[in-house]
Amino acid sequence: MPGFVRASLFMIEKNLQLIRKELPPDVSLVAVSKFHPVERLMEAYEAGQRIFAESRPQELAAKVPQMPADVQWHFIGHLQTNKLKLVLPYVSLVQSVDSFHLLEAIEKWAAANDRGVDVLLELHLGVEESKQGFSEEEILEIAASRVFPGGKGEKGAASPVRIRGLMGMASHTEDREQVEREFARIESLFRRIHGMGLPGFDHLSIGMSGDWPVAVRHGATMVRIGTDIFGPREY
Ligand SMILES: *Cc1c(COP(=O)(O)O)cnc(C)c1O
Repeated sequence: MPGFVRASLFMIEKNLQLIRKELPPDVSLVAVSKFHPVERLMEAYEAGQRIFAESRPQELAAKVPQMPADVQWHFIGHLQTNKLKLVLPYVSLVQSVDSFHLLEAIEKWAAANDRGVDVLLELHLGVEESKQGFSEEEILEIAASRVFPGGKGEKGAASPVRIRGLMGMASHTEDREQVEREFARIESLFRRIHGMGLPGFDHLSIGMSGDWPVAVRHGATMVRIGTDIFGPREY
């Protein structure tokens, strides 16, 4: 129904305008487009949106060639090491590096393909057992020893992996104080590592539909918003 398409175009554009009005100008808006068809992404693109994020490798690889070349893609889902070639050639940032195993595999891929890869380390933040991510101790260990920007890789050469900051997902809960506590925790870890003077470590990706205004108050430099832009996902 053409009438419905016009209505949805209006909705996505309007939603983006509402969010941009509230978002400080130095916070990046990442449009989480997983499960939405390319037509909806194009509506957001035509309303000026350029950063999109996907969480499934096949879906990302299928959408990339259908969207304009100036789109920046981020990956935000759990990434298996056998799927790197579906993701790494296309994305400007992998936000969801959640294990040493994955970090090492990305480093190997980057070295073999002679290109740099920008990543965020995912901190296990929420109460959900199933959520992926590093512990604080593990992230501090990486900060102290490994592949930070300008740091040395295993053979003494600069690592092709650039760790650009932290990503976290708060618990899915109505308990506002719980969410505040979780964002405060990742904010303080971020500031601590930032204070070590690691060049390029400048992104804190927290906040999604529902909790992004709280995340902005806790120092988010990047918010990842799906539902508030595109409406509910169809599973
Ligand atoms: C799906 C997803 C989002 C966006 O969720 P919404 O509630 O739709 O805004 C943000 N971050 C990650 C890691 C996601 O998987």
